[in-house]
Amino acid sequence: MKLKIIIPVAAAMLLVCGTLTAESLPLKSVNKANEVIDAAIEAHGGSEALDGLNTLVQKAEYLTIATGQSRKPGPPYDTGQQSNFSAIDLEKEIFVAQNKGEGGGYVYEQGVIINGEDSWQLNQRSGTAAPLAEPDFHTQSGPFIRVTPALLMKQLQARRGQSNWLGEVKLEGRMHDVITLIMEVGPALALFIDQESHMLTRMERALPPFGQVEYSFLDYTMIDGIAFNQKFKLFINGEDNLVIDIKKTMINAPLDRYVQLPSDLRKVAAISPDLLSSNEIDEGVFLIGGSGTYALFVEMADHVVAIGGTQTVPVSIKEMRKEIADKPIRYGVLTHHHSDHVPGAAAYAQEGATIITFRENEAVVRKAAGDEDAKLEFVRDHMTLTDGKKKVELYNIGPTPHAENILIAYLPDEGIIFEADHFPQPASGVIPPAVPVTFAFAAALEKLELEYTKLVGAHSPRVASPADLETALSRQPMSVTGGL
Ligand SMILES: [Zn+2]
Repeated sequence: MKLKIIIPVAAAMLLVCGTLTAESLPLKSVNKANEVIDAAIEAHGGSEALDGLNTLVQKAEYLTIATGQSRKPGPPYDTGQQSNFSAIDLEKEIFVAQNKGEGGGYVYEQGVIINGEDSWQLNQRSGTAAPLAEPDFHTQSGPFIRVTPALLMKQLQARRGQSNWLGEVKLEGRMHDVITLIMEVGPALALFIDQESHMLTRMERALPPFGQVEYSFLDYTMIDGIAFNQKFKLFINGEDNLVIDIKKTMINAPLDRYVQLPSDLRKVAAISPDLLSSNEIDEGVFLIGGSGTYALFVEMADHVVAIGGTQTVPVSIKEMRKEIADKPIRYGVLTHHHSDHVPGAAAYAQEGATIITFRENEAVVRKAAGDEDAKLEFVRDHMTLTDGKKKVELYNIGPTPHAENILIAYLPDEGIIFEADHFPQPASGVIPPAVPVTFAFAAALEKLELEYTKLVGAHSPRVASPADLETALSRQPMSVTGGL
């Protein structure tokens, strides 16, 4: 949907020309935002009711639409189901979330407890609880706040001095004021407030490199004097991504029982922030990345082969240059077409490298590369990259429950395998029970008869072993449903 911003030119002109008015344009924008915020707060229950809202518990059913994350590159996209539980205490900065579901060849049951020193990441399927070394209430609770209008109103209340009025737009036949909200973390949000009902109907935010995210708040009902939407939709670049049905809302209930660590979970090593790291896992073979995304760089005689396409690639290349200063990247290999595994194409194109992908992914990859003339080479089932001595073998292990076509890289002489999204391994600690994609991955390795000693992936700094894969395959999933 295209929105037309009506710029209040006349008003701005008056301000510029009028000598009597002391209201500058920024001040006018802030004042107008305040007017809109006051009316919106009133419509969502009033400042007294919102002031009194301190804890909130919600249960919801999610329909997840795998936009850019399906087995095939284009629509229609695959769907998944998720049950979700969220609880927040704004005063004590406590946040508890729990979700259970399936999609993309994964099944999961996991959660988080953010409660100061007593913060945990839970994996009910694995039966483990890991302390969070640096719990971050704002980052963890942000996604829940962003889909909950009552909590957004409280944010507006508290941060109104930072809000601006952007203009007015017509949205589905109704006029809306658009104001900004800057939360503790993340990019600014644009909130669309209906000029008649003063309800929040829509929100937008830019999220490079993935694009624009749009939030749609539907079916408001009053609960204890506060307006809560019963339905929510999220769009990424105009395409459906998430539909939430809110099943239960509890206001100001004590959260004590939700912050208790389930006693049947095994305590494992603490989770620390995943900082940028470079690990030479064999001579001339570097696993480089951070924040949960990694690429493999292989030094050949007169060039470098890079494998992996996540958004960390530009930073990883810079880091790689500290080790290999003078050889160009000749090939940038993309494992698959998913939106989080193609942004690296832009960096490879800039390096002048040939991007290796599947023919089916051409459109997605060219778009991610941002360069119509980017050099692409297509692989079908197998490709060997070699300088005559060192070898990188690429194998298509698709179709799997995750993607129709997906590459793994195999270095036969070093016994190294690099994969993406099929062997989810935590940075340290206990290897969780295998998910459906892991079984598909293991079956492919067996069929290809690949002998290896080191198994690394696009989402972990860990160097795993064949025994770790065996552990995953043999472990039975546990299930200890806490908050749900
Ligand atoms: Zn993927």
